[in-house]
Amino acid sequence: MDTIVALCKRRGFIFASSEIYGGFNGFFDYGPLGVELKKNIRDCWWDDMVRRRDDIVGLESSIIMHPKVWQASGHVDGFTDPLVDCKASKLRYRADQLFFSPVVIDGNTVGYVSALESERTAAELQEAAESFKRKKAIQGTLAPVAPRDMTEATPEEIALIPSPATGEPGSLTPPRSFNMMFQTNVGALTDGSSVAYLRPETAQGMFVDFKNVVDTGRVKLPFGIAQIGKSFRNEITPRNFIFRSREFEQMEMEYFIHEDADWSKCHQEWIEWCRQWLLSIGLPDTHLSLYAHPKEKLAFYSRGTVDIMFRYPFGVQELWGIAARGNYDLTQHANASGKPQEIFDEATKKKFTPHVIEPAVGVDRIVLAVLCAGYAEEDVKDEKGNVEKRVVLRLSPRIAPVKVAILPLLKNKEQLVARAQALYKKLQRRYAVFYDESGAIGKRYRRQDEIGTPWCVTIDFDTIEKDGTFTLRDRDTMEQKRVTEADLFALLEEKVY
Ligand code: ATP
Repeated sequence: MDTIVALCKRRGFIFASSEIYGGFNGFFDYGPLGVELKKNIRDCWWDDMVRRRDDIVGLESSIIMHPKVWQASGHVDGFTDPLVDCKASKLRYRADQLFFSPVVIDGNTVGYVSALESERTAAELQEAAESFKRKKAIQGTLAPVAPRDMTEATPEEIALIPSPATGEPGSLTPPRSFNMMFQTNVGALTDGSSVAYLRPETAQGMFVDFKNVVDTGRVKLPFGIAQIGKSFRNEITPRNFIFRSREFEQMEMEYFIHEDADWSKCHQEWIEWCRQWLLSIGLPDTHLSLYAHPKEKLAFYSRGTVDIMFRYPFGVQELWGIAARGNYDLTQHANASGKPQEIFDEATKKKFTPHVIEPAVGVDRIVLAVLCAGYAEEDVKDEKGNVEKRVVLRLSPRIAPVKVAILPLLKNKEQLVARAQALYKKLQRRYAVFYDESGAIGKRYRRQDEIGTPWCVTIDFDTIEKDGTFTLRDRDTMEQKRVTEADLFALLEEKVY
């Protein structure tokens, strides 16, 4: 992860927000290359999800909605995480991410150890238990640790569990519910009556505008409403770079189906669609897996949720959640607003409230996934046959920030530069391209490899003196071949869609 974070900063993909003031935990800025990468991911999703389908329409709802929306949706009462305070350090922890274990020697509990959730939680607890035994000089056999999280701790145990901040027991509070919605005030008054929320998901926009779309959009069941936009969650412990931040971007789609439709089949179809889409933007199948939420942990209205998981460097984590939500959301809004959210069934001549399948994914988590999966360091030979290291970012041409780099062989040869500039200008009308004339050609290739540019084009003397062809170099294979301008446009047409 450190390597990825360093590359992101060095090459202008992602910066810490407000960095000159020391950064702001949980917020990030996308730099010149990052913003292109992110836009490409959004555009691919929008094209595939909305424009290339007949059954899905788009929406852009406001970020701040009527506070009653969030009461009806259950977010005001229920959008909480369990929070544990450390009274000594004033640090806060998510109770389900703070683990502890009793230290058991010869069958007796002699104390407790704690550790924050990571890939090594159990190992860290074991090391802490061994260190505890050594420091207290207790003889006997140490039992293997039995990790549990703070939501499972009894009041007696809480008093004895050391805070990860201080290493001492006695300062952790019992878990309490912490609402993750950011509050603000709308209008000149700042009393309770003006409280509003930054949306913690984009989905409610689709439910609240459901009738507007049905009445104006000429849609027929089954159909979907899709939205891309910022969401905000006051995460207790933002971490793992852009994986869990406080301001992030979501791409969500609500697919409305008949109440008698085979929801399970539809759910499966969407899971597969989402998986295929991730493959289409270059994520390797080997890094993806599915996780079906156990029935007993589902919200009461939910019929099933399957997450597409991605193997990040810090562990296998949720990338895309695909939930079958019944007709819970529309029913809640119908009840709270007094306005039925129904559709008329021509076949049965009855009205009903449609059910919904919801694929919801975070753009930032996709950005992180493609960076992690695409990053490689390789030993390669330079022109003189010396072995050197190259950093390469294997991004799919669909999403790469720069599609082609145009490189005149020499910058002081007017004809080479003019031909390169002409091609550059022509390509620029349709594609994100980059012009670079400075430095040795090998160095220029490396610069493009590191930012994931799939192809480099070199304009040399043959181009201007012979047949007009130029060298096309492939980022992944490093193979070079002579191609015509028409070949290049055909390649881009095929690979960048
Ligand atoms: P998690 O369990 O990881 O907190 P969640 O189940 O609460 O996620 P959803 O409410 O299902 O997430 O949100 C849909 C998608 O939005 C997630 O699959 C994820 O890709 C993205 N997402 C959610 N929270 C964050 C966050 N804090 N930062 C970045 N992306 C997020």
